[in-house]
Amino acid sequence: MGFTATIIGRPNVGKSTLFNRIIGKRVSIVDDKPGVTRDRIYGQVEWRDKKFTLVDTGGIEPGNEDIIFSKVLHQVELALESTDVIVFLVDGKEGLTPIDEDVAQILRKSKKPVILVVNKVDNFETQSETAFEYYKLGFGDPILISAAHGVNIGDLLDRIVGYIPDEEIAEYDEDVIKIAVVGRPNVGKSSLVNSILGEERVIVSDIPGTTRDAIDTLFEYQGKKMVLIDTAGLRRKSRVKEDIEFYSNLRAIGAIERSDVVLMVIDATSKIAEQDKKIAGLAHEEGKAMIIVVNKWDAVEKDDKTMNKYTEEIKEEFKFAEYAPVVFVSALTKKRVPKILELIEFVMNYYTFRVEKKILRELLDEAMTIVPPPVIKGKRLKIYDAEQIGIKPPTFSFLVNDPEILHFSYQRYLENKLREKFGFEGTPIFFKIKKKE
Ligand code: GDP
Ligand code: GDP
Repeated sequence: MGFTATIIGRPNVGKSTLFNRIIGKRVSIVDDKPGVTRDRIYGQVEWRDKKFTLVDTGGIEPGNEDIIFSKVLHQVELALESTDVIVFLVDGKEGLTPIDEDVAQILRKSKKPVILVVNKVDNFETQSETAFEYYKLGFGDPILISAAHGVNIGDLLDRIVGYIPDEEIAEYDEDVIKIAVVGRPNVGKSSLVNSILGEERVIVSDIPGTTRDAIDTLFEYQGKKMVLIDTAGLRRKSRVKEDIEFYSNLRAIGAIERSDVVLMVIDATSKIAEQDKKIAGLAHEEGKAMIIVVNKWDAVEKDDKTMNKYTEEIKEEFKFAEYAPVVFVSALTKKRVPKILELIEFVMNYYTFRVEKKILRELLDEAMTIVPPPVIKGKRLKIYDAEQIGIKPPTFSFLVNDPEILHFSYQRYLENKLREKFGFEGTPIFFKIKKKE
């Protein structure tokens, strides 16, 4: 996840308005669990070539002062434990309240940078006169904004990214295979990482790119350099299950972004959860290769059909990533753990596979003869030019008469033809459809 900024403040100061103003629609995962984490959401922000994750702690309903205070405190505690910068939001219309002052006192004692933001400054001229009131909180210059009207949001973003160190994340050479190990808490990620690394692997160097959120281990497998990005190794102190899950998701996002291959670890002894699908969905959207690792297979009562049945279920649940191979392992007994490394090599071949232009053209012509593209509004799809423009993941560009008539279903058909012919196992395939002018 990299660098994180968390918005805290009492209810109604405008946290979600600010969050939405900054993130727009690019919210990656919404945590819609009831209870403490209700509404707690986060999204990726890019500002002046720097990236960070913005968290909105939200989710506190107005009510009794004492209850609100204890809930805000809980959010503050979590934020202090898990974030790099705190965006402390107060209400410029209502002015400071006792809760604001109490929160400020706690924040002052922590060592985290705090940016004091006064929201609802809709009328800058009259309201900035009262800004001196906020200096007494002890966080230096407050930033006066209007989240609703989008005033001074850029200043706030400048302040946030000002705290991001230049080289937050280690870069590896292009030929190093980067493997993210992700999954819900307790599925066995740590055990699996240990089990993979324990097997006579030569560990080249420990923790070169270790960030606050993941431990990287560089090792060699059959002459190839690989790095395991382990998000499980670091654990938050939080005792609340939803909180642990929330932060484990945040870390998964960061690890996925940095990876080539995602090992999507699920637990054979528990049902496939929404959370599993969200994480896998992210890997798919980010264009990462994926292997679904079903762990704790030792603990499942099985006969000769169990594996097939389970595979079918997984293919159904992870329909958007049907290409992902499934492997059944036990980190405990190490059964089939070596198979994971074989699969990584296998899917990397497809992840970096290139199709020659001439062969691609032949394949498309043939596919379009077998099932001609549909006629829509009197027009039939024409593909004037097609070529592969990238790898990791394989990305194809089509120059067509009208992108609108290249329906999703037909695109899917062409994708399947590509897969039939070349395999492309474990990797998503991206298409860029351009209109011929
Ligand atoms: P949260 O509980 O802190 O997440 O607060 P919300 O984002 O839900 O906002 C609470 C209320 O304040 C809503 O009615 C918003 O429309 C309003 N609000 C948010 N930002 C501004 C602002 O810049 N100016 C004004 N006048 N109202 C705002
Ligand atoms: P993480 O939170 O995903 O890193 O999960 P851990 O590696 O900490 O494992 C969570 C629990 O599952 C621990 O009690 C492990 O002993 C157990 N566990 C991990 N892998 C296996 C496995 O393959 N089989 C069984 N039966 N238990 C496992």
